[in-house]
Amino acid sequence: MLKTVAVSANRKTGPIAVTYRAGEHSTYGTCPKGCALNPAGEHGAALIDQDYLAALLAAVPRNGQAWTYSHFPAELLPVAKPGETVINASCDTMDQAINAMDQGRPAVVTAPAGTQWAGGVEYRGRRFIRCPAELAEGFTCMQCGSGRPICARADRDFAVVFVAHGAGARKVGTAERGGCYAAGGKVAIQWHATKKTGRPNDSQALREFARSLPPGSLLRHHVAGDIGRAAA
Ligand code: SF4
Repeated sequence: MLKTVAVSANRKTGPIAVTYRAGEHSTYGTCPKGCALNPAGEHGAALIDQDYLAALLAAVPRNGQAWTYSHFPAELLPVAKPGETVINASCDTMDQAINAMDQGRPAVVTAPAGTQWAGGVEYRGRRFIRCPAELAEGFTCMQCGSGRPICARADRDFAVVFVAHGAGARKVGTAERGGCYAAGGKVAIQWHATKKTGRPNDSQALREFARSLPPGSLLRHHVAGDIGRAAA
């Protein structure tokens, strides 16, 4: 199920185009079963939805940019060709992020709540840079990277750090399952609504949505959700 929003009211993305993706029976249905942040892993997806993935890679607004994140293993994620949607490997640890970057994937990592890395850090020879939208009030993906948002750069040589927030933040970086930032608040409301009222043919809905956006648009796929094949 796919929900599309042409102009997001999300404080972090700013007024860009976004989507949410959910299963028909479970909000977490498109997320990988193995994601440590997924509090409902048993309802998650075992496999990537290849039909949707093909639609996702192509779903870039004309002369625009598109990106997303996935918790599926980095080695299963395609490396974007020029003009395709950039899929960041969402990692739980800095070592995982380094492995993903060593495999040629752009990586992001969720750091435990309270991490203070305003200027970024270096670890095992790689730079880790905090998302600038977490550091300045009013800064959004719209302003990020001076027209080339950091997360939309497939060829970057550093990882982006997001510091855990939301109701489950204390679980991030621990052995306890859960901590997904989309489990609560306004994002959760939009995401749960996706399960009930989103478009059922998500591949087709996504293609149509990307085509409908003005040239030069920014599109962030899956404010919540992933590329898994949800149970029918
Ligand atoms: S690094 Fe930039 S593009 Fe990525 S989430 Fe933060 S503001 Fe948005």
